[in-house]
Amino acid sequence: MNNNTLLQIANDFGSPVYVYNSEIIASQYKRLTSAFSKVENLKINYAVKALSNISVLKLLNSLGSGADTVSIQEVQLALKAGFKPEHIIYTPNGVSLQEIEEASELGVQINIDNLSILEQFGTKHPQVPVCIRINPHVMAGGNTNISVGHIDSKFGISIHQIPHIIRIVENTNMTINGIHMHTGSDILDIDVFLYASEILFEAAKNFSHLEFIDFGSGFKVPYKEGDIETNIEELGNKLSKRFNTFCKEYGKPLTLAFEPGKFLVSQSGYFLAKVNVVKQTTSTVFAQIDSGFNHLIRPMLYGSQHEIINISNPKGRERFYSVVGYICETDTFANNRRINEIREGDILAFKNAGAYCFTMASNYNSRFRPAEVLWHNKKAHLIRKHETFDDIIKNQIEITL
Ligand SMILES: *Cc1c(COP(=O)(O)O)cnc(C)c1O
Repeated sequence: MNNNTLLQIANDFGSPVYVYNSEIIASQYKRLTSAFSKVENLKINYAVKALSNISVLKLLNSLGSGADTVSIQEVQLALKAGFKPEHIIYTPNGVSLQEIEEASELGVQINIDNLSILEQFGTKHPQVPVCIRINPHVMAGGNTNISVGHIDSKFGISIHQIPHIIRIVENTNMTINGIHMHTGSDILDIDVFLYASEILFEAAKNFSHLEFIDFGSGFKVPYKEGDIETNIEELGNKLSKRFNTFCKEYGKPLTLAFEPGKFLVSQSGYFLAKVNVVKQTTSTVFAQIDSGFNHLIRPMLYGSQHEIINISNPKGRERFYSVVGYICETDTFANNRRINEIREGDILAFKNAGAYCFTMASNYNSRFRPAEVLWHNKKAHLIRKHETFDDIIKNQIEITL
């Protein structure tokens, strides 16, 4: 997608707007499956929470992906998008037994991440095979907001509690058909990932009815210049070999599963916003756009640096800008960023806006959430309308005072 296509989309659909390029999603999917082509049974379950528009889900379904879901609503959404129940895995954290039972009744693969629910579910439904989420206690990357494998993480059942899992399985007669880990979103180092995988293989030997081993996700994509990208090809090569050897030892060809979100959709996305005001203070030139952290919270929440390009003036002289929003709150998208000269009315494009961007948007300041557009087969398809005032008010109840 070139600048002119993006500009045209901002023109036709209004700003702010999210745009996703289906070709990038398809090529990332292909890249991942090719990297693991030596594994006989590979299953990619797209992590729905990264970008959950139903048209994007349909696209991933058509590519052959399954769906990884974290709430009953995501399960329902995936079913509505056409995923077969057996291609949906439900990996919640801290939800009620009741919600897990609801998901189970819809026929999806259940993944349980605590001993309490495992025991309760196994006692009531010993005939339903479940996957267990293990915490291998391996730190992936240094950012504790997104590392979920450390010792005091709320995610997964500690690897040290395998004896307790075995006791529950024996007491309830339940079947464990899968074993899972998801250590976070920041795999910088393949050896760390392989090390965590070894812990999972070791744990897997305790269960004789496994059908799959799920290695979660954590694949890193570059956001800014100099960022490290997970070397998928190297990981594929090394983990595939190890997995195939493990299957021989285990005596059965298991399925190798992954559940990437960011890797599949991040780079497909652009967020387009218009510059309302260029404001010069004593020390800074601010470019204020018609958006805020209500539409894209990652810079404020995680310190993420999304590359920003001025698609209205791509050849303009570069200057330093702080790009900020219009909500009544500090909402900085970028500090001291070198960008081609910004004029009021210009459209700025934020890159890597596919994952955890729209799905984290809110109505803060009673603003509308943006529209979403899918660029597919060289055509722009509107896949979510801009909200209207009706969306702001529709669930509110005016009482008589
Ligand atoms: C969020 C999530 C993922 C996806 O993580 P990415 O970093 O986007 O690839 C995978 N598995 C589970 C259980 C998750 O909660």
